[in-house]
Amino acid sequence: MFYGVAITIAYWTQVRLMINIKSKGWDELGSLFWSKGRESARPSAHEINLFLSGVKTGNALTIVGASTKDLIEKALDLNVDVTVLDFSEVMCRELKKILHRHCSIFCVDITDRLPDDLWFTSDLVLSDRLFNRFTEFEAKTAIRNMSLLLKNNGAIRTSVKLGYYPMDELMIKEGERSGRLQDFFDSSTDTIDFRAAGDIVEACLLPHGNIPIRKLVQWYRMRGREKRYSDEDMHRIVKEFGSKLMISSQEWFPNAPETMLYQISMQKK
Ligand code: SAM
Repeated sequence: MFYGVAITIAYWTQVRLMINIKSKGWDELGSLFWSKGRESARPSAHEINLFLSGVKTGNALTIVGASTKDLIEKALDLNVDVTVLDFSEVMCRELKKILHRHCSIFCVDITDRLPDDLWFTSDLVLSDRLFNRFTEFEAKTAIRNMSLLLKNNGAIRTSVKLGYYPMDELMIKEGERSGRLQDFFDSSTDTIDFRAAGDIVEACLLPHGNIPIRKLVQWYRMRGREKRYSDEDMHRIVKEFGSKLMISSQEWFPNAPETMLYQISMQKK
């Protein structure tokens, strides 16, 4: 019995530490993501309209990810109540500085315990390619927490880049060539570990807009383990929530490569 408790505590400490390291990666990047990052890593005007379609005055929205500043600003233009959750103190601070209108911004890790005063507060929970920054375990925890944020008949709208990024493919090829693939790539779950990849990150680094190389390498290192998804993965993951949640619609993003916008709705009782 004692052993079991000790292993559980050790596991959660490790997971908690890992998640904190991921937030430190975004602390490093800060507003460079907006000022220097790759355009296609941010939703286009058309994609923002897809996130916000059907939003009415009086609705309450939660947006996870301060980096999606353009989506946040557009939502505020609609005269709706907007709450932003982000686990990076720097991203929260930078967003506060740049927004000209009031918006509640909370430093919250969506894959950790959710403050109960946020429960059942939102008609819509939006996130843009947030799941691509997660392991499968973090993605499931995030979906569970996002569903807790929803009022009855609420919905989650989340875009997911499907398949590998071009840099993933370079790293996998380099890993095969150098015989180091299993150091950082788990093919059974399609999970890449940017920390364990060591100098293969630098060797395969692709520019992210004009973000300085040194910053970019630090950001990748602290991104840790990230899963790559297929459409089947997304349906399988949501199905694990049984009769509570379902993918009620999905559509391709018009401007970002291989990126699908999923709407995950509470199933009517
Ligand atoms: N589209 C971009 C991309 O593809 O990288 C952004 C993805 S995600 C929305 C990035 C934002 O989410 C950052 O502001 C980051 O700090 C925040 N974020 C990442 N993981 C998070 C977590 N576990 N909890 C809350 N916010 C998180």
